[in-house]
Amino acid sequence: MLAGKVALVTGSTSGIGLAIARALAEKGASVILNGFGDFESAKREVSEVARGGARVGYHGADMSREHDVAAMMTYAAQEFGGVDVLVNNAGIQHVAKIEDFPVDKWNAILAINLTSAFHTTRLALPHMKAKNWGRIVNVASVHGLVASAEKSAYVAAKHGLVGLTKVTALETAKTGVTCNALCPGWVLTPLVEAQIKARAENEGVDYTEAKRRLVAEKQPSGELVTASQLAELVLFFTSEAGSQVRGVAWNMDGGWVAQ
Ligand code: NAD
Repeated sequence: MLAGKVALVTGSTSGIGLAIARALAEKGASVILNGFGDFESAKREVSEVARGGARVGYHGADMSREHDVAAMMTYAAQEFGGVDVLVNNAGIQHVAKIEDFPVDKWNAILAINLTSAFHTTRLALPHMKAKNWGRIVNVASVHGLVASAEKSAYVAAKHGLVGLTKVTALETAKTGVTCNALCPGWVLTPLVEAQIKARAENEGVDYTEAKRRLVAEKQPSGELVTASQLAELVLFFTSEAGSQVRGVAWNMDGGWVAQ
C-alpha cells in the first residue's frame, strides 16, 4: 500500500502516465497529475479509483520549461508536502531522417524526454533523502536500449534517461530511495497511434494492417504491451520487494530487445 505517499506522474493526462497514476491512486497514494489536453477528465478518472482519502491534484507545467518544472515541484511541496514517488513519464516523438530532422523538434524532445527528468529528480531528491524513502521511475523505452532509424532525438534522449537512471541509483544506493527505468516496447497510446496512421498513409494500407505491420516488425510476440501492465511494474518498483532493485532498465516489450 502507498497510503500517505505522494506521487507525481508527469505526462499523466493520457496513455501510459494516466494508467500509472490510476494504479498508484488505487494503492492509496495521493497523485499529482501533469500534462496537456483534457486534464479534468483525467483527474476525474483517477479520483474515482483513489482509495483511503488519497487526494488528486494537477499542475499544468510544460515539461520543456525549467521554470515550469520548478513551479510544479513547489506546488507539490506546498500543497502535498513533497513528492515520494516520482514518475518521469512525459514524452513526445518525431520521426525523420537526421538530415531532415527539424532542430526545434530535436530540442523539444531532449527537453521533455530527458532534461525534465533531471530537473524533477534534482528537486525531489532532498525531500526523499530527508525521509529516507523514495521511488523514482523513469519511463524510458526499448529505445533507451536499442535504436531504430529516423528516431535520432528520441533514441538519444531515452538512452540518456537510462544513463540518468543509473547515476541516480548509484547516488542513492545507500538510502531508502531507488531509481529505475521502465523500457516499454509498442504500447497503443496516442503517441503510437500517430505512427500507425503515418504508416497506413505511407504504405497505402488500412489502420489494422498498418498496426499489424508496426508490431510484427519489432515485437516477436506480435502483441502490443498494455499501459496497465506497465503500471503493475511501477507498483512493483514502489513495493518493499522492489527496494533492492536499483538502476535497472527493465524492458517490457514482447521480446523486442531479446533479438
Ligand atoms: P501519450 O502521447 O499518450 O502521453 C504523453 C503525455 O505527455 C500526455 O499526457 C501529454 O499531455 C504529456 N506531454 C507531452 N508534452 C508535454 C510537455 N511539454 N509538458 C508536459 N506534459 C507533456 O504518450 P504515451 O505513449 O503514453 O507515452 C508516455 C511515455 O512513454 C513517453 O515518455 C514515451 O516516450 C514512453 N513510451 C511510449 C511507448 C509507446 O509505445 N506508447 C513505448 C515506449 C515508451
